[in-house]
Amino acid sequence: MSWYKSLKNMKQSQEEFFKIRCKKCLMPNFVSTWNSPEGNACEYCSPGEEREIIFPDDMSNDNKDMTISDIVKLVHSEKKGKYDCMVSITGGRDSTYMMYYAKEVLGLNPVAFNFHTGFVTDVAQENMINVTNTLGIDFIQFRIDGRFLKKLCRGFFLNNGEVCSVCHQGHFYTVQKVAQWTGLKVLLRGLCKKTEANYLVPEYFNWYSMNDDDFNARVNGFAESEGITRDELDTHDDFLHMRDWTDNEIKKIDLPDMLDYKQEAISMVLKKLNWKQNNEFIHLDCLYNPILICSQRYAEGYSEKQFIISNLVIDEIGPEEGKKLLMAEENIGFEDLSGLSKFLEIIDVDLPTFEKTVQRHWNVRECSPVKGGGSA
Ligand SMILES: [Zn+2]
Repeated sequence: MSWYKSLKNMKQSQEEFFKIRCKKCLMPNFVSTWNSPEGNACEYCSPGEEREIIFPDDMSNDNKDMTISDIVKLVHSEKKGKYDCMVSITGGRDSTYMMYYAKEVLGLNPVAFNFHTGFVTDVAQENMINVTNTLGIDFIQFRIDGRFLKKLCRGFFLNNGEVCSVCHQGHFYTVQKVAQWTGLKVLLRGLCKKTEANYLVPEYFNWYSMNDDDFNARVNGFAESEGITRDELDTHDDFLHMRDWTDNEIKKIDLPDMLDYKQEAISMVLKKLNWKQNNEFIHLDCLYNPILICSQRYAEGYSEKQFIISNLVIDEIGPEEGKKLLMAEENIGFEDLSGLSKFLEIIDVDLPTFEKTVQRHWNVRECSPVKGGGSA
């Protein structure tokens, strides 16, 4: 395979790679500022003043100062019929643990759901089915017309360089459908600020569609070239326009915010539930995510995994373990991604088109800290 050779070689030499990283948290010096010339600590791991955690706009929640007992009270006050609340799951670590916590620790009877994007990995699918079975939780998996979904995903990929917008829209849509069927208004999620927090670059995650207007503007932009008909837009009107409703009407509760969130304890619980892990240490639930991670490194010289690894290094695993994770991360290029051909098959895009799309949409961006050099 030579198609990827014209993409920049993203793999970094390991010697160079450690020279530019903070010794305490492993954040590269083009993302965070060192507190001393030796780089023993930086603005990320040892900030001068306390910072607010910055999260993408559409991942805001409603649990600001709430405690676990406030949440239980809220859930009971909003209970409808046989279910106490909704839980969104992906088959990944955090949402699986939260579902367990809601059922076994808080004693709730949640209904679990998932929007199937078409990119759910086999292991994630297996996890969702096995764990809901084990815990005795009803599970709704929602799919929309595959032909329309494919047009949306292809359109977003070719015109925006990503398919995450469709996934997020689908999530909000599914919440609305489940809320409508059950009458429930409280959604428990496994979004973990501690895992995903990004303290430094507020714009980092905000490249996908954040609301109905933006989503529809983009869809209308490529509807003709992707052969999306007026009829399809009418049929899927709810899918295209229920995100803002969900955002306003449903109380979104991120349980990890209220818990002492230790990876080791979580791993023990997941093992008992027969939850399976693949090679990915984050987002094993999505076939596209490793491609996204590569695209981000192509554009910025680092990916969202950098934040996750540095957070783990500071709180739990220390720099030596973190170095191993980062070295593995820095040595993955597009050509190493086993899921790439399956992804391209699903959205019906060939390799040369994929290459051009990555070059066009993941060019080093204006806001990138590596603009003007340094990105491997
Ligand atoms: Zn640091």
